[in-house]
Amino acid sequence: MIQKLIASLLLFPALIFNYAAQNIVQTKQYPKDYFRGPLDLPPATVGAFAELRPNHFHSGLDFRTNQQDGYPVHAAADGYVSRLRVQFGGFGNAVYITHPNGYTTVYGHLQSFSPELADLVHNYQVQMKTDIVDFNLLPLQVPVSKGQVIALSGHTGAVAGPHVHFEIRDAETQQTINPQLFGLALPDTKPPVLGTACMYSFNGPFSEKTGRRFLGVVGSNGNYRLAKPEIIEASGLTGFAITAYDCNNTSVAHNGVYSIELKVDGKTVLTYAAERFAFDQTHAINAFIDYPEFLRSSRFFQKCFILPGSKITLYPQSINRGVINFNDDSIHEVEYIVKDVAGNASNLKLKVRSSSSAKLMAAYKPTGILFHYDKQNDFSSGKVKVSLPPGNLYDDLDFTYAELPRRPGAYSPTYQIGSKYAPINDSYDLWIKPDSNIGKYADKAVIVNTDGVCEGGIYQDGYIKANPHTFGLYFIRVDTTPPFIHPVNITNGGSMAAKKAIYVKIGDSLSGVKIYMGYIDGQWVLMKWDFKSKILSYTFDGALTKGKHTFELTVTDQENNSNTFKADFYR
Ligand SMILES: [Zn+2]
Repeated sequence: MIQKLIASLLLFPALIFNYAAQNIVQTKQYPKDYFRGPLDLPPATVGAFAELRPNHFHSGLDFRTNQQDGYPVHAAADGYVSRLRVQFGGFGNAVYITHPNGYTTVYGHLQSFSPELADLVHNYQVQMKTDIVDFNLLPLQVPVSKGQVIALSGHTGAVAGPHVHFEIRDAETQQTINPQLFGLALPDTKPPVLGTACMYSFNGPFSEKTGRRFLGVVGSNGNYRLAKPEIIEASGLTGFAITAYDCNNTSVAHNGVYSIELKVDGKTVLTYAAERFAFDQTHAINAFIDYPEFLRSSRFFQKCFILPGSKITLYPQSINRGVINFNDDSIHEVEYIVKDVAGNASNLKLKVRSSSSAKLMAAYKPTGILFHYDKQNDFSSGKVKVSLPPGNLYDDLDFTYAELPRRPGAYSPTYQIGSKYAPINDSYDLWIKPDSNIGKYADKAVIVNTDGVCEGGIYQDGYIKANPHTFGLYFIRVDTTPPFIHPVNITNGGSMAAKKAIYVKIGDSLSGVKIYMGYIDGQWVLMKWDFKSKILSYTFDGALTKGKHTFELTVTDQENNSNTFKADFYR
């Protein structure tokens, strides 16, 4: 009788925990019934919070809109519109609402704003003489109530198709938080799918040269095992990683997982959880994934160890940064537990034979200069200077430098500046000395890499300076070519009487478009650029009288090369 009682007491707390806390790791509790979803459609997602994207963690939840634009977008709770933003890329048209409970919600890729917000945006655009704007509003300016329509959904900004990007941020720190922790539940009974595991043997800093052992995985429905059953040999400092994705019941999209826990002999050595992070740490995705392997094979191996320079707040638990020292002569059990935000779990166990007698690894020796992740790092060759502020490396780096043959049209040799496999949290200062014949082109010089990325450039003390975000192969070019302007529906002397708008296509081949200024009869007019189609447009607003008018457009690139298009037209 007493034994039975003890047994049931022991079971009881476990049941409550499973039921109430979704059985997922989180460091804080968030209000559950405060926010509603942004759409009146049955909730379905095409992207999860902290999902892995090139160079950033996805900062919100992407709600499906049936591949269409134009669905009403609703305020998630009472509050006030605190910020309005229009970007070429990023979130496109976006609304930010601040709520009295200390959170801000964000709605992105909108087709259009509500009439009241559209007026505010338009007035600010005209005042600033640009369609790209980002401004804050005062608390009493535009109060909104829960459910109020603030915009229509669309696909503006950096997106492939229509959806609403939705975020919940801590209003004070602007850290973005997983919206699904606020009770915005999606039907999900499918556990994550595991792909391939990887074991790393460390001898020095993590790099493209770190020893990797890829392990094929088979299984389904939460239960996974190695494709080739074997005991893996390991000795010394070791780390693990895995590829994984999640599906829920609302779409076939491959979404990000919520958490990855690594256990050794039943003890948790590291937990990653997609709970919240700060925007200035989002590039630390390249510390979380195996970045060299991502560049080589486009696969996202999610590491179960933390690089010492990574500051992202996605690791609620870790011992020794998740690095395991296999130094005894026994068999250990390594277990991955991968969960989605609904608590569905997938599991993979490996057996590892640890060895104490393995030959000692040779002491680590860099081939170039050792850069320290926690210090300022500087390099100079007389032709090239590099200055890397602290906080930009995730681990120490074997910095390699070489002068390589020049490319046709270049104004410097090609330089190898470090390894492209070493990720950088933000950027560094790079100076390259141009050829002496650069002369009058010094003001038009830019630093480019061999992948075609233009980093811009300014002339400074005999060098061209830029701030690249990656290492790699760099050299100097000059940009003397003005942007192109191709009229789409306007010709000189033609009629625009039946046209709703003027369309022209603009772009620049090297440094990129900096500014465009459109005028009708000498008066500045607001033109909007769709970066994806490169179409710049002016929509007639009814103010033009019948008769002859003049349209003039000037487009300038980052190196101040300008092109002008002029046409008379009739209304
Ligand atoms: Zn999104």
